[in-house]
Amino acid sequence: MAELNGQVAVVTGAARGIGEAIAKRLAAMGATVVLTARDAEQLHRVQQQIASAGGKASVHACDLQDAEAVAALGDIVQQQHGRCDILVNNAGIGILGKPLHQMTPAEWDTLMSTNLRAPYLMIRAFAPMMIAASNGHIINVSSLAGRNPLPNGAAYSASKWGLNGLTYSVAEELRPYNVRVSVVAPGSVNTHFGGGGSTGKNPVKKVQPEDVAHVVAMLVTQAPQSFVSEVLIRPTQKP
Ligand code: NAP
Repeated sequence: MAELNGQVAVVTGAARGIGEAIAKRLAAMGATVVLTARDAEQLHRVQQQIASAGGKASVHACDLQDAEAVAALGDIVQQQHGRCDILVNNAGIGILGKPLHQMTPAEWDTLMSTNLRAPYLMIRAFAPMMIAASNGHIINVSSLAGRNPLPNGAAYSASKWGLNGLTYSVAEELRPYNVRVSVVAPGSVNTHFGGGGSTGKNPVKKVQPEDVAHVVAMLVTQAPQSFVSEVLIRPTQKP
């Protein structure tokens, strides 16, 4: 597969889980992938695995809560690659398991900053490159919790409902510039975040990171230009 030869893809949260799977899939399709997250060691592990499989990736560790660092990431990609064809806003955290009234303001701020403000900062940094090129595709990783209530996860749910709203609005803003904006919304995925850990337990009931990567691959190659794509990903009840 070399559909993405010559293209540059930026993937946030690429140090593990869904972001790692998306990065590897896009690299296998020929894209040069810019890997970002805070943990440089894990990013280098992913980079080495991509290189071993014959792909291309660079590492730029960055805390997405830091507006200046995100802007600098945009500048680095502009300088090093001169383009960004695909941006996957995947990084996210969950503060789950307690009712909203027990959540601290600091926890609320961290969650919103990571799940909702960071995609804004990334779009702020990368949309100008796409607009200048009249080409691009932004894919935001939301959640089924962005379409349903999530008791004891109200802030997480609100952040993903917000991300859906952001997606639909920015899609309208960027459509005149030939930049697509899509959202994928998985159910429970077998990752560190989703409670699967590194052992991959309980794989039947959960979506796998590679399933989400598969949907992203479909979107970047097949999504119609004139629609906002929202793909809900949930496992079937039976294996
Ligand atoms: P994960 O395994 O915990 O990975 C999260 C990634 O985000 C890591 O690479 C982490 O790297 C990065 N990250 C977190 N905070 C960051 C920050 N401040 N700056 C930069 N990078 C940061 O989670 P996952 O399951 O792959 O989830 C990925 C996305 O899918 C999230 O948006 C999540 O809400 C969504 N999702 C997950 C599930 C699920 O069940 N797993 C279901 C629906 C939706 P560092 O810690 O190194 O920074």
